[in-house]
Amino acid sequence: MDHRATRVAIIGGGLGGLTAAIALMKIAGAEVTVFEQARKLAEVGAGVGIAPNGQRGLDRLGLLDEVKLAGAPWDGPGVNLSTDGRPVAEVAWSDSAGRYQSFGIHRADFIDVLRRSIPSDAVRLGHRLASIHALDSSVRLEFENGVNAEFDAVVGADGVHSLVRDSIVQPSAPIYSGSIAYRGVLDASLLPEDWPMRSQVWMGGGKHFMCYPLRQRKLFNYVGFVPSDRPLKESWSAEGDVSELAAEFGGEEWDPRLREFIKLIDKTFWWGLYDREPLANWSRGRVTLLGDAAHTMLPYVGQGVNQAIEDSVSLAIFLREAEGPEGIIDAFKRYTTARLQRTAIMQASSRRSGSQLDSQAEYEDIKKRDADVRAGRDFRRSFFYDYDAAAVAEKTLMRSRNARRALFA
Ligand SMILES: Cc1cc2nc3c(=O)[nH]c(=O)nc-3n(C[C@H](O)[C@H](O)[C@H](O)COP(=O)(O)OP(=O)(O)OC[C@H]3O[C@@H](n4cnc5c(N)ncnc54)[C@H](O)[C@@H]3O)c2cc1C
Repeated sequence: MDHRATRVAIIGGGLGGLTAAIALMKIAGAEVTVFEQARKLAEVGAGVGIAPNGQRGLDRLGLLDEVKLAGAPWDGPGVNLSTDGRPVAEVAWSDSAGRYQSFGIHRADFIDVLRRSIPSDAVRLGHRLASIHALDSSVRLEFENGVNAEFDAVVGADGVHSLVRDSIVQPSAPIYSGSIAYRGVLDASLLPEDWPMRSQVWMGGGKHFMCYPLRQRKLFNYVGFVPSDRPLKESWSAEGDVSELAAEFGGEEWDPRLREFIKLIDKTFWWGLYDREPLANWSRGRVTLLGDAAHTMLPYVGQGVNQAIEDSVSLAIFLREAEGPEGIIDAFKRYTTARLQRTAIMQASSRRSGSQLDSQAEYEDIKKRDADVRAGRDFRRSFFYDYDAAAVAEKTLMRSRNARRALFA
């Protein structure tokens, strides 16, 4: 009988692909190779918020303490403010049990932590996937540099423009949201001493601005979301114009504290904001998807990376149980079924939250906006933050084991 480890190729060495690599090695005992098109593993100079549900996944992988250490704790719940700085509501930041509390981390610091848990020969840089071919009991990959390789299974963690996705579903263009993000980091020592060490979001007419601390509070992450009819290609590195960002939030209606904050920014990057409609299925045979490749969402509920962490843990648990020649195919089907609905709701929630924070559509009525921001807190805590992707996968497996036992009893 063949007892060798399952050989899995992951396409894409972003936060999703690297987390998946660790999960598949640690939980499923797989032999993993990550193929990344870039010559260096790098991330945009900006932050990411790690929510309680993502932390639960990192905890399961034994990574949480290290990630937290590299990040910056927040002093309390995030605050949503009106355009002029009036506090509207504290937003949910911890799970119901109070065990996990949201924090921020610089993306490059997160990559460093993940990279340390992956053997260096398991990451192949400068490998851009060119094509993917399903064979009878394996998958063949061809890279633009001429390398060919065969694996038992393939995970596409290749982001919003995923080529792996195009091999599973009909290719389509991502949907432009009508907004771009100006993002970057600020030296925290430039800020007034009493600047809150937590997340703050100023909500305005058609735009909003958020900031929170990173890197043991030495840096501050900022993102200004503004409407634009100049859709930018989604990119990590399009340098933006700081004076345009300042002009967007420079009007008298904006909180003077926010305007002072923006004056301190000396560098910014642009980011076109796209999402996709939820997929009805994202696995075919021995090929599946994870992270933005599976469920590109707008960033307005801060869940893109957190969902990729949930995906990783869930996928690894289902793959751990794979048996026989069809085992991988079944595992990928179960993983997709377990993740589809939750991630589709996240995609829809992100769109809705964007309208809320931008005070658009039904939220032009500021009273309604503020009431809904306050009312959303409990939903976010219970639906977003209390979720345990590992427990859901284990429960699904237990149910099917019990059903099988009952059938053959
Ligand atoms: C402004 C903004 C703020 C955000 N804030 C948050 C937040 O606070 N919390 C949160 O959870 N999420 C947040 N997100 C979302 C988050 O950034 C994404 O969901 C996440 O980075 C997706 O990770 P990924 O690994 O799936 O994809 P990516 O990070 O896009 O990685 C894909 C990788 O695949 C590689 N690749 C692509 N094609 C190929 C190929 N053919 N061959 C080989 N390699 C390939 C790419 O080079 C890349 O390294 C935010 C997004 C934005 C825009």
